[in-house]
Amino acid sequence: TSNVTSTRGDTPLLPQVKNIIAIASGKGGVGKSTVSCNLAVALANLGAKVGLIDADIAGPSVPIMFNVEGEQPAVKQVDGKNTIYPIEQYGVKLMSIGFLTPADSAVVWRGPMASSALKQFISDVAWGELDYLLIDLPPGTSDIHLTMVQTIPVTGAVIVTTPQKVAIADATKGLTMFRQPQINVPVLGVVENMAYFTPDELPENKYYIFGKEGGQKLSEKFNVPFLGEIPIVQSIRESGDTGYPAVLKDGITREAFSKLAESVAR
Ligand code: ADP
Repeated sequence: TSNVTSTRGDTPLLPQVKNIIAIASGKGGVGKSTVSCNLAVALANLGAKVGLIDADIAGPSVPIMFNVEGEQPAVKQVDGKNTIYPIEQYGVKLMSIGFLTPADSAVVWRGPMASSALKQFISDVAWGELDYLLIDLPPGTSDIHLTMVQTIPVTGAVIVTTPQKVAIADATKGLTMFRQPQINVPVLGVVENMAYFTPDELPENKYYIFGKEGGQKLSEKFNVPFLGEIPIVQSIRESGDTGYPAVLKDGITREAFSKLAESVAR
């Protein structure tokens, strides 16, 4: 991945951020947020300086997945400007649409509101020097995608999908969107989540619950790298719910997400 110093706007935003990586999916529920959170922590474990923006208005997951629910980022006046300080957890700087709304409230985020929240996360947050700023996008295609590319120089997009036919069909749409002239963001590759399941009692067996190698075939079709596969593991779901990312635990989950981080960092 390359060094980002230029911007498409007049004022250079985020000049201290080397790589801005969008995490996208076609369909909801494929594990885009789970992958974003674990990838962020895995990159930090490799020694990188990492930030994560949760721009998923459909369901901001970062506050729960990082166990920082109910926390409020500090706001201070710096040079006459309101500056927001990201919340830091597990070595990752975090901003989430979820920090702006009470946890249980059913705020309906309209596209323009979400777009302006994302703009604020980019222009008013004291990110400091970062090697990677990950942006967890809402599923599908939306105003936010356009706002993002119009506001900051995105290094590339990572597409998360399950191997299932419907997920692949939607991921295909997501992938081609990034290649449209008005978006024009390089696709860094495809991650296949929920690739297979291995029961503890049968460690040699792989069950392809959502189908086999759909993500791999997608990456071949579009000639983009296959970044890796993440199996279905109960502790990945549990760690999401308890706010302690699976990559911090020993075993198969740490291995899978660390490998993913290495291929993204390459
Ligand atoms: P999305 O962001 O695409 O909507 P989430 O990351 O919220 O998806 O994941 C949807 C659900 O699936 C969550 O309950 C999450 O804990 C679970 N999940 C995601 N990936 C895995 C996995 N590899 N193994 C087990 N559960 C997973």
